[in-house]
Formats: sequence, structure tokens, C-alpha cells
Amino acid sequence: MLNYEYLLSNINTIKGVGSKTAKLFKKKNVNTVFDLIWNLPRDFIDRTDEKKINELQIGKVQTVTVVAKKYNFPRIRNLPNRVHCEDDTGKLDCVFFNSYEGYIRKILPLNRKIVISGKIGYFKKKYQITNPTHISSDTNSIKKVFSNYSLTEGINQKMYNKVISEVLGNLPDLDEWLSDRILKKFNYIDWKKSVIQLHDPKNIKKKGDFLNRLIFDEIFSTMLINSNIRKSIKKTKKIKKKFNSTPFENIKEKLNFNLTKDQLNAINDINNDLSSDRKMFRLLQGDVGSGKTIVALVCCLNVINSNFQASFMAPTEILAIQHYELAKQLFGKNITVKLLTSKTDYSERKQILNDLKNNKIDLLVGTHSLFQEKIIYRNLGLIVIDEQHKFGVKQRKKLSDKGGKNCDVLVMSATPIPRTMIMTIFGDMDVTILKSKPKNRKDIKTYSKIENKINDVIKFVSTQITKKNQIFWVCPLIEESKKVDHQSSVKRYENLKKKFNNRVGLLHGLLDKEEKNKILLNFLNKKIDILVSTTVIEVGIDFPNATVIIIENANKFGLSQLHQLRGRVGRGNKESFCILILKESISENARKRIKILKSTNDGFKISEEDMKLRGYGDLLGFKQSGIKNFRLADPVINEDLFILAEKEIKIIENNNESLKQYIPLLKLYDRADILNDIV
Ligand code: ADP
Ligand code: MG
Repeated sequence: MLNYEYLLSNINTIKGVGSKTAKLFKKKNVNTVFDLIWNLPRDFIDRTDEKKINELQIGKVQTVTVVAKKYNFPRIRNLPNRVHCEDDTGKLDCVFFNSYEGYIRKILPLNRKIVISGKIGYFKKKYQITNPTHISSDTNSIKKVFSNYSLTEGINQKMYNKVISEVLGNLPDLDEWLSDRILKKFNYIDWKKSVIQLHDPKNIKKKGDFLNRLIFDEIFSTMLINSNIRKSIKKTKKIKKKFNSTPFENIKEKLNFNLTKDQLNAINDINNDLSSDRKMFRLLQGDVGSGKTIVALVCCLNVINSNFQASFMAPTEILAIQHYELAKQLFGKNITVKLLTSKTDYSERKQILNDLKNNKIDLLVGTHSLFQEKIIYRNLGLIVIDEQHKFGVKQRKKLSDKGGKNCDVLVMSATPIPRTMIMTIFGDMDVTILKSKPKNRKDIKTYSKIENKINDVIKFVSTQITKKNQIFWVCPLIEESKKVDHQSSVKRYENLKKKFNNRVGLLHGLLDKEEKNKILLNFLNKKIDILVSTTVIEVGIDFPNATVIIIENANKFGLSQLHQLRGRVGRGNKESFCILILKESISENARKRIKILKSTNDGFKISEEDMKLRGYGDLLGFKQSGIKNFRLADPVINEDLFILAEKEIKIIENNNESLKQYIPLLKLYDRADILNDIV
């Protein structure tokens, strides 16, 4: 057995963990010995403080050696069993609620020296310990510092401590994987010593080399895998895409604006990738409204121009429809664009699948359904994935593989995240960032209003309507229930319809495709002025004529989510507004969020603040991205270690160093399934 394999073995291989306990652990996602290591003690109880009975202090946890003298097992319900004990200085009772006589007789036999530890109480002029859990004839097993672990139901602290000390006692001496360059930064502390220190009750909440080393291992393993995915993708040779600039010039003529410098740079980056003989794996990042769609479409067009098919995947059906409409409009009649979503009906779907296979479709726009097993592309040259921050490294790699070796990949994300997060979440990709927004953009003016001032808001809305502007009205997310959301949006809709001449639409998750399309088109074509909706409009939809967004119960939303919602307006060149409707009393945290939102339109700043408020794990949509796998590392707190890891990766890449020494690291830190494709 390789020495690290003990750590990967099933939790029930630990002495004292039977199948019942293992089940309890598994409920908490603790499956292997390694998993168990990262559940850290929260605090500890010191049971080393031994006293004679006459020195005991009431209310303290203390340890005392006594002799049991007499049992008192009353036959009356609700009265506890007692054991009268003593030492040469005084008397003490052990009181047991809900313990059987047999058990008590076993752990506290009469006339023998027994060590007991517990919280000292006082009742009827006598010291007592109630329900003592730490009783033994062996002083050393009791007089210890016990860590308090967050309990898995059914496993008590004593048992937990036993399991942990069993594990710590069996930790293997692993061959060091870190280079000397790195190790010296942590004063050469090895992995095993670090883990032992991590569990030392004295070190709870303490920082030090042991902790930094372990955090580094975690970050480094993630980045190493990312770097290798990137390398392996780059290794793939593909057919260069050959295209000329005519189609792009044609598109530019159709636009009623000039592309920004950043957009042109992005197109340039991507074109270079497309026309190289290496597979593209690129992230295009830009805040809401920075104009990513057009960049992606230009690239699709170039790919089509070089006789390949392209596919464009959106996170929601509505967004897919919008991309589809825009592509049709810009590409003209000679290029076949089709839409495929889960709502596409059977016969149409069949036709599309057939046409795809026969190369009769140039661009397929859709949702997840684009990458189901049954879909076969004749000649796929580009996959664009829009706003899919839920996609983790593994899923992206899978998509890229499915596309085949000639298929380039472009991922777009509107969630501005700090650099440390980009390194970990998108470290497998090259990155282009759209920093500047289109010139005509004005900051969205953001106000808040207390709920009972809703009439003021309605007045404001009607003035805007007379100015021919359109309004998004987002309804409260009262509960995590589609039904309740639905009801509240229906109510608001009915209410607004009366006030605004029926020129109001309602969009919610329960509508079918046709109805949704109809409403969206009505809004686009200005047949309605107000679109009431649940948060289905959150991602990516583009309505340049909408200048106001009202968000009810805004205190319920996270900061990044509010920023995304707000980004639905302010996309044309008119002045835009965001009105946050709030309950009279909101939490301190919500107040902070609203304040930050009002003070800036800068998505990067907002996401940074959001991370500070909520921690990185909750940052919009990243829950499933794999970054949650961090058990110790935090992209905000440990920025320096992220940067150190990045430097180390560069050195390894540049020197082409072998990865052999890192295999245990990668296997332990759960990257093994990707690893197989790489090493
Ligand atoms: P996002 O980056 O959020 O996906 P979109 O691509 O949806 O943004 O673009 C938002 C809006 O900005 C669209 O109406 C689009 O037509 C417009 N737009 C894109 N680029 C420019 C530009 N350079 N100048 C003016 N408007 C632009
Ligand atoms: Mg978008």
C-alpha cells in the first residue's frame, strides 16, 4: 500500500468506527480518513485540573479521584439514580438521568478508585456531577485536554476525540511534495506535523506555518490541476480557422454604435486563438452590459466563415431566444441559425438534429440541451458558453472534449471576481477582460424607498412612461418557493394593470415557451410599458429601452445579485434608474448592501465588498463551481498564498518540471479523476 492510501481509505477502517458511526459521518459528507481531518475542533475542555473533593469549585470542569460507596436507585419515575462517592476529604454524588443500573454498576463499581471528570454542581449541601461522561480507572485517559468538534448527530465528543486521535496516531509519513523553494517559506514543516498541530487544542484559531502550509497545499493542488488542463488543451493540435474580415465589416455596418477598444481587443485575442493551430480555451469576462454578446457573435461568424459550425449556449431559455434573434438579424439570410431548448417540440427538434448532422445548420443557439448525448455536430468549430459560472473546471473540460479536437471554447462571465478567484475558478483558461463599458453608458441612479411609499414609486413610473421609457418590476422573493413568488408577482401585476391601462406584462417561471416569447416580444416592441417578473430576468437579457428597474423586497437579495438585476437597465444611452423597495426594518447587513449598491456601479468593487460581507463561498452562483472544495483556504484572507502558488506554478511550467512528486497531493486533494487524463 502506498503510504498515502490510508488517508483515502473508507472511514470505517478507523479503529472504533463501526458501520453505524460510519453512516453518521457519511451523512456529513465525511467518507474517508482524509475528509475527517478537515473537520476542525471549535474549542476545547481542559480536564487536567485535578482536585480533592474539599477543593472543588462549583461550575468548573474538574477531575477528581473517588471511591464509590453506595448505590441509590429509586424505583420512582423521574428520580435520577445516584452513586454516593467519597475521597479522604469529602463526599460527592454522581447523578444519572436516563442511565440503566447495569451500566452504572459497570462504570462505577463499589470500593474501587475511579477518576471522574465533569462540571461540578452542588445540591443539598453536597458536591455532585450530573451525567458524567468521563469516567475511568485510568487517570491518563481522563486527565487530558479534549477538543470540541462540531458534532455529527449520534457521535459524542469523547468518541469523536478517540476517532481523531486514532487517525492522528496513524498518519503516514508522506514523501514531501512541496519544493524546497516553497517549503522554506513555511520553515520546513511537513504535512503530517502540520495536521497534528492543526488538531492540537492549543492551536484552535491560531495561525502559523502549520496552517499556512496546509492552506497552500490546498490552493496549490487546485492551481496545478488547472495549469495542467490548460497545458493539455494547448497541446491539442487543431485545424487553423481561416476567415477574412468582410463578414465582420458587414456586421459593424449593421450596428448603430462603435465597438469599444476593449471589445476590439477581445475580438483580436479570440481571432488569434481561432487562427492558431492550438485549441482555444478562453474566458471573456466583463461586467453586466459591457457588450460581450456582440464579441461572441463576431467570433461565431468567423468560425462559420471558415466552414465550421458554432454553438452558443445560454443559461436560460429567454436569453437563448435573445441571442438567437440577434444572430439572425446580424448574420443575414445566408447563414442558418437555429434555436434549441428543452421546450423545442419533438418534430422540430428531430429536424434540427438531422440538419446539424448534415451540416445544414451553421449556428445553434440554445440552453443546456445543446450538449446532450444525442446531439451530433458534423463539424463543430466553436462552443460559446454564456454566463455559466455554475460550470466547474470538470464540466468545462468535458464540454471541450465533447466538441472534439477542432473545437475552440469561449466562456463568458459577467460576475466580476477578484484575481485570486479567477486563478482558481478559471485557472484552466486564458483570460480576456472587458474593462471599459460602452461610452454612451451613464451610471444607473440608485434609490431606496420604504414599502409604504409605494405610491411615490408608482408616480415616478408613470412619469417615465410618459417619456416613453420602459420599466422592469421585479417581485419579491419571499420564500424559496416558486409558487409563493408566483402569487406575489401575480398580485403586483393585477394591481399595476389597473393603474396603467393594461400595458403591463407578467413573466414568471411557470409560463411555457410561447407565452414567454409573446410577452418578451411585446415588451421589446413596446406594446407594454411594464414587465413584472420574478428573478427570471436576472441574467443577461438585453432591453435597451428599459430605463427603470424596481426591485421589491430588495433587502432579500445579495449584493451581487442586486448588481446583476440593476444591470438589466442602463444599456441604452438614456439616463436609468434603479429603485430598491425595502421593508421598514431590515437587517444591518442588508443596510450595508444597499449602501454599497447606491455608492457605486463598479461590479468589481461590488463583488469584493460582497465577498467581505458573505464570504467567498456564497458569491453569486459559485457554489457549484468546485471552489467550495476549499476546506481551509479563503481567496480573500489568503491572497498572499494564492499569489505564492501562482508563482510556483509558473516556475514549474517554465522549467518543465516533472509532476511525479505531486501525485499524492493531487490524489489526496480529490483531483484524481481529472488527473488520469493528464499525468
Ligand atoms: P453583456 O456583456 O452583459 O452580455 P450585452 O452584450 O448584452 O452585455 O450588451 C449590452 C447592450 O449594450 C446591448 O444592447 C448591446 O447592443 C449594447 N452594446 C454592446 N456594445 C456596445 C458599444 N460598443 N456601444 C454601445 N452599445 C453597445
Ligand atoms: Mg450577456
